[in-house]
Order: sequence, then C-alpha cells, then structure tokens
Amino acid sequence: MEQRVHEETLDPQDWQALRDLGHRMLDEMLDYLEQVRERPVWQPAPQAVRRQFKQPLPLEPQAPEQIYEQFKNTVLAYPMGNIHPRFWGWVMGTGTPMGMLAEMLAAGANPNLGGGDHAAAWMESQVLDWCKAMMGFPLEAGGLLVSGGSMANLVGLTVARNTKAGFDIRTAGLENAPKPLRMYGSVEMHSSIQKAVELLGLGSQALRQIPVDEHYQIDVKALETAIARDRRAGYQPICVIGNAGTVNTGAFDDLQSLADICQQEDLWFHVDGAFGALSVLSPQLEALVAGMQRADSLAFDMHKWMYLPFEIGCALVRREEDQRRAFSLTPDYLSHATRGLAAGKTWFSDYGVQLSRGFRALKAWMSIKENGIHKYGRLIQQNVDQAHYLASEVDDHPELERLAPAPLNIVCFRYTVPEKDDEALNALNQELLLRLHESGIAAPSYTTLNGKYALRAAITNHRSRREDFDLLVEYVVRIGRELAPAF
Ligand SMILES: *Cc1c(COP(=O)(O)O)cnc(C)c1O
Repeated sequence: MEQRVHEETLDPQDWQALRDLGHRMLDEMLDYLEQVRERPVWQPAPQAVRRQFKQPLPLEPQAPEQIYEQFKNTVLAYPMGNIHPRFWGWVMGTGTPMGMLAEMLAAGANPNLGGGDHAAAWMESQVLDWCKAMMGFPLEAGGLLVSGGSMANLVGLTVARNTKAGFDIRTAGLENAPKPLRMYGSVEMHSSIQKAVELLGLGSQALRQIPVDEHYQIDVKALETAIARDRRAGYQPICVIGNAGTVNTGAFDDLQSLADICQQEDLWFHVDGAFGALSVLSPQLEALVAGMQRADSLAFDMHKWMYLPFEIGCALVRREEDQRRAFSLTPDYLSHATRGLAAGKTWFSDYGVQLSRGFRALKAWMSIKENGIHKYGRLIQQNVDQAHYLASEVDDHPELERLAPAPLNIVCFRYTVPEKDDEALNALNQELLLRLHESGIAAPSYTTLNGKYALRAAITNHRSRREDFDLLVEYVVRIGRELAPAF
C-alpha cells in the first residue's frame, strides 16, 4: 500500500477561524473609513513604530490575529492621510469603500489579465470601451488599464516613437535612426513624461521644453518655431505632448491648436490628462478639454479624479494596430487559439509592458456601475467649485496672496506680510506648511512659482466639504501670525 505523504497548502487549516478574523477586518475597515473625519490627517510616528519594520525575515508562522494587530497599530495608526477629507497634497486619490471591497474580490478571484478567454478579460474590455466612450475615442481604439498616469504616458509615448520613427525601431534600435528624434511639450509637463522619454532611449535632451504664457499654457508660436528650427537642423520631430491639467496649476494647453499643428506637421499627438482629462465628465468644464478627442494617444488616471483605490490608470491609442505593433510579440494575433481557454480576441499582454496583469478592471467596473458617470461629473465639478471657493477666500483675505490662476481644482497661495521680501516669505511659508502637517489639521502640498514658495491645494477628494477649506484658511492665518515675527 502506498504510504501517505504529508502535503502542505496555504489554505487555512481552520476555515472558521479565518472567516471570523476576515469578518472582523471588514467591520473594522468600514468603521475606519466611516470615522476618518474624526482623526488627524497625518501625524509623526514614534521611533518604536518605525522599528517594527526593521525586523528579521520571519522563518516560522505567526498568528494571523497578531499580524493583523500589527497592521492596525502601524499602517492604520500612522497613515499617509490621503483618504482624509482635508488632504489636498500633490494630486492624490481618496479611494472608496466599494473600491476596497472590489479589491478584496479581485484578489480572491485572482485571474491573470495577460490574456485568455475568460470573463475577467471581457470585463476589462468592457471597462476600456467605457473609457473610450467617456473620452470621445472611437470604440475600435486600442487601450490598456495600467498602474497609473506614468505608465500610461510610457505606453502612449512608446507607440508614438515606434509609429513615427519611420523605420523598424524594434529591430534596428535607436542607434540606427537616420535622424535624432525629438518630442515637444511645455515646461509645465509632468516629470513622468521626461522619465518615459529617457526610458525610450531618446535622452532628456530630445524632449524640447517649450515656454508657457501667463496662464501656464504652452506658447503655440514658440512650439511652431522650435519644430521648424529642429527640422532645419536635421532633427526628426515625431510627437507633441499636450497637457490636460498641469500638476502645478491645473492649466490646459490649447489642445485644438496642438492637434492642428500635429495634423499639419504629421506628428503624433499625445495628451497627458492624468487628472484633467476627467473634466470631460462635467458639462461646465468640458470645453477645457476641447481637442483632446483628437489625440493619437491619451493617458489618464482613475485613482486620482475618479477616486478609485490605487493603482489604476488608462492608456488609449486611437489606432489599435499601432499599439499592438509596438508591444506584441505574437505579430499575427489571430495565432492565439480560436477555441478553449487560450482563445480570446484581445490579449492584453500584446498592448503594454506587462505579461502577468492584475484584475484592476473589477474596481473600475463595480464603481462605474455603482455611481454612474454623471455622479463623477458632479463630484469633479464640486471639487472645482471648492477650489474657486478657496481661491476667493484667499483673494478676500488681506494676509493671503494667490500665486497662480486657479482654472481647475488647484489653488496656489501663501501667507504674506507687507514688509517682507520673497526670501523671508518663502522661509515662513515652508515652516508654516510643516506646522500645518504636524498639526494634523490639513495637508496641502507645495510648489514654487516664479521663485515664490506656494502652499498648493489640489482637490481630488470626494470627502471634502466647504467647511474644510474654512478650517484650512483659519489655520494658515493662525500659524502665519504666530510665525511672522520670527522671519
Ligand atoms: C499624477 C500625474 C502623472 C503621473 O501619474 P501617476 O498615476 O502618479 O503615475 C502624470 N501627469 C500628471 C499631469 C499627473 O498629475
């Protein structure tokens, strides 16, 4: 008789015990979200908490209850704060309770979205079709859910480079380019664009940074001049990058003009709409993105202004075959099986960098159905109205000064004292922001505009209310007054 071998599994030995713990986790996380407003936005952590993450590699099992307790005492007790109603740093997302549940279900089902003929793949195609509909792209366009705006920009610019290079760059490589390739965008472009250009082997000097006007929009004349100058000098212009919502001030480039130039000059038109592209969902804001639907590729995030939990972004490419040609290593996609599990029209691994891919589509699919697109439009408009409210509070206050136009959801301002110069005000406002963060009251971030250090509130937060901005102004003025004599 065969001897019984001892075989292990990672499933629990006691399903009931794990079920009880799981239910407790769910209840406590929902409480945590429900009560987020009552806690500080952020707080500095004691050394003892940091030391918990300097422990040796565990070789033997620990009790699930204790592991969970450690998570609560560290991660939940000392959060980044971006789920809080008064977090307005960088351009961050808040997440939602339904998004959290979707992430749990996605991990439980755990399909691999590299490809294959299964329902999760059809769901990702469905979400991509909805994204195309939202953004005014044709249904035949290509697309991919990715980790975020950075990856979506990389995907778009890779397709741009490969399509417009004019030779088989995948085989020959950049070293065989007849002419050096050039891309163009404004000085207000996001750093992820430069990263992408560097990763593509073009070098950052291939990315021409065109000046902006007083509205922080690209100077279209200067762009045309730069393209013409480069052509004369023997370079090959291939792509213009338009901003739909810059990270500093929320500015929109004149996308119609950029689309016209690309058409005339036979250039690829890529739009970085990480958060600004979502303005298309609000009837009052829609005009800002006019021309975006003419892009050859569009990058946008769903973890910023659609409030989904990290990570999820989307890249759309007007001509699906351009995207496939840039990434597919099975050139004739019909060679995927026509029957069985390995069938399926779209293998997502043919459209981007990753082979194995997570089930990002589920949280998007559930959330879009849960809320309907009109609600996202209203929330985006609500954030813009809040930014205008904050801007007018700043404008009305003699001790506050606005440092940039606020066309969208970003307000840049500082505390000011009449007789002090920029150097003193920069130092004062830097200290002010640190104290504001340490107070746990609110978390805007910062930027520098024309040499002036600015407090910067970027509002992509479905939990914020007007009273939260009153509190921000109250504390900025209070801390500013306390600090003023020392600077
Ligand atoms: C946030 C942002 C990015 C990068 O997106 P990630 O999701 O952080 O990778 C790119 N462009 C703009 C304008 C952004 O605001």
